[in-house]
Amino acid sequence: MQNEYLHHPLDPWKLCIAERAISIDLPMQGMQRLQEMLVSAEGTAHYELQFSIDPQRLLQVQGRVKGEVTLECQRCLEAVSQTLESEFLWGLVTGEEAAINLPRTHEPVFIENEKLDLLPALEDELILALPLVAYHPEGSCQAPSQFTEEEQQFEVEVSAKKKNPFSALADLKKSLKSGQ
Ligand SMILES: [Zn+2]
Repeated sequence: MQNEYLHHPLDPWKLCIAERAISIDLPMQGMQRLQEMLVSAEGTAHYELQFSIDPQRLLQVQGRVKGEVTLECQRCLEAVSQTLESEFLWGLVTGEEAAINLPRTHEPVFIENEKLDLLPALEDELILALPLVAYHPEGSCQAPSQFTEEEQQFEVEVSAKKKNPFSALADLKKSLKSGQ
C-alpha cells in the first residue's frame, strides 16, 4: 500500500531530514509511458526508497525496484514475462546547474516548487530497467526451431556439395580424356 506518497507531491526536505524509508507498490496500470512498452499492464512494481542527506548536504534517495512485466518475445512474438530488478541513487535537485554539479554516482531528479513528484521518477526507473529485447528461455519459445550457426554452416556445405557433381563430372571427363 502506502500509495498516499503518489497522490500528492512530497516535501523532500522533510523526508530526507527524517531519513524516512518508504515502500510503495505501484500497479503497472498507473504508469502510462511504461504501459506502451508492455504487452499487458498486469502486475505491480515494488519500490523501496531510503531518503537521506549525504555528507555534501545533498538530498538523496537510495532505491530499488522489483516487478514482473509482460513483454513480447522477439523470436515468436508471443508474450513473455520478465522480472525486472534495479537499484538507483537519486540526487534531488532544484535546477539544471545543480543537476550538472551532481556527483556521477547520482542521477538527477528534479524538485519543482519545493515538491517531489514521485510517480514519474519511479516510472523512469522501471523503463530504464527494461531489456532492449526480450526472448523466451531456450526450449520454451513457440518459434519454430531455428538453425544454429553450426546448422547453417552445414547447410552451406551441403549446397556446395550439390554443385560438386558437375565439377566432379568435369574432372572425370578430363581424366578420361587424358587417359585415352
Ligand atoms: Zn518466444
